[in-house]
Amino acid sequence: MKAKRNVMSLILTIILAVSLLCPAAVFADTTVYTTETGTKYHSTSTCSGLSNAKKVYTDTESSAISRGLTKCSKCWNGSSSSSSSSSSSSTTSSITTTTTTKASTAATAKIALKAKTKKVKVGKKLKIKLTNNKSKVKWTLSNKRAKITKKTNSYVVIKGKKKGNVVLKAKAGGKTYKIKIKVVK
Ligand SMILES: [Zn+2]
Repeated sequence: MKAKRNVMSLILTIILAVSLLCPAAVFADTTVYTTETGTKYHSTSTCSGLSNAKKVYTDTESSAISRGLTKCSKCWNGSSSSSSSSSSSSTTSSITTTTTTKASTAATAKIALKAKTKKVKVGKKLKIKLTNNKSKVKWTLSNKRAKITKKTNSYVVIKGKKKGNVVLKAKAGGKTYKIKIKVVK
């Protein structure tokens, strides 16, 4: 009987030793400082968040958490919440990098007015493309030396009417693109 009791006390000692070494047990036993009305618990009694309190109470962290209190951001430096915020900021920077890559790709696919030639004979037609455009286009000519005979959001067809220069304008996506066309005899 006596030997059995010694084994039991040894087991209890081991359990106690393990619980003291276990980080969760240490966490639960952390002494924190609270106030009567505050919603935060503090790691130090000298925290500025406690300066207005009439009386500061000592408590365990697990007890403070169970009462719905949260960590004071002033005195809990190097907490798990700060490490998670730094990981989220690195996620944000990777998103920014992706956006920059997309923007430079869009810049490469430049919108421009292009024609095989910048000349058109009176009575003849010329097709002028608006490359890489995906917006709705408003086409205009600077004068009546030429006339638009067909228009889409990717190209226009003009017909020479009278000798001289005419500027074709394409307004798309808030920008205006211009090309000067010479109407010849
Ligand atoms: Zn504090």
